[in-house]
Amino acid sequence: LNIQPHGINELTDKALTLAQDRLQLNEIKVNKDYLKQDIIIPADEEKVVIALLNIIINAIEAMTPGKGVLTVQTLQQKDKAVITISDNGPGIPEEMKMRLFDPFFTSKPKGTGLGLTSTQNIVMNHKGTIHVESEPEAGSTFTITLPVNG
Ligand code: ADP
Ligand code: MG
Repeated sequence: LNIQPHGINELTDKALTLAQDRLQLNEIKVNKDYLKQDIIIPADEEKVVIALLNIIINAIEAMTPGKGVLTVQTLQQKDKAVITISDNGPGIPEEMKMRLFDPFFTSKPKGTGLGLTSTQNIVMNHKGTIHVESEPEAGSTFTITLPVNG
């Protein structure tokens, strides 16, 4: 890992920038609810941006074009930096949640099933956590926490 100090707002914005063409193409509204003052964490920029981008792309693919709302939030909880990414897609069935991070698990005709596996590995390499909450028909929220002090 190439660990350097990076802000979580900055990392999240880099991922959104990489997704911007797809966001526009699908007419997705993006709500940003960021920390007023960015918090700096030790992170491999390239890896964390890809980890976030995987989640954002899944959200885009889950939402109905023209009706999607993507909400990204950054916050701090004690010694953890927290990033949440929410969509208003169909949600994730309870029995699927267990398998979501398994290599090659996909519900898409041309999916690889490797996006969330890669994201989870990157988060784990940063000693962070990732979990998902989902409300059927209402959407899904992925929450990543990363330690502020490495
Ligand atoms: P892929 O995108 O190639 O299918 P991923 O590992 O990125 O592989 O995702 C695995 C599966 O998790 C997806 O196929 C989809 O069924 C489910 N999934 C991931 N994110 C979402 C989401 N935001 N809403 C609904 N389902 C999701
Ligand atoms: Mg994916």
